[in-house]
Amino acid sequence: MRLPICGFDAKVGVLCPKCEAKLREGELSRSDVDISFMLAKLGGRLPLLEKLTLKRALEIDGDIVLLLGQGDMSAIRGNSSFPRELEGALSRRVWLSEAESDDRRFTESLVFPAKIMTMNTVWLPDGSKIMKVIIPGKRSPRFPVDLDKVKRIVKETRNIDLVVRFEK
Ligand SMILES: [Zn+2]
Repeated sequence: MRLPICGFDAKVGVLCPKCEAKLREGELSRSDVDISFMLAKLGGRLPLLEKLTLKRALEIDGDIVLLLGQGDMSAIRGNSSFPRELEGALSRRVWLSEAESDDRRFTESLVFPAKIMTMNTVWLPDGSKIMKVIIPGKRSPRFPVDLDKVKRIVKETRNIDLVVRFEK
């Protein structure tokens, strides 16, 4: 996997002075570094992982959020067992999305396999943003995604207050 820390660091499990400086200056976060080391340890266990790029990583309530490179989500969708295998290998719930995709696609990756039917964005006078999305169909108790967690991820990564409604 292409990681935000350099390949040498990933191999030896220690930061070189250059990456150490990036961490100090805030160009890398502590979770970028910690999660990069965790992913580097998986080595060849998950072949698809080698094709992906990690841009940023966060931890939210013990879950891991990986913000990946452009095009990585379509590679993952072509390998439907990958997300579960990755969660098994890390023994953590893992959320996947692309760092640079637009707000709609970013959120859609998090609510997968659900889709977003419509999206409205409202800017508040203080510069913050509210994004209202509608998911097709009826809310069911079996809905597979923790939407409160999705809201926290969207808030922490994009500073957007997400409101989710169902079509019916
Ligand atoms: Zn380094």
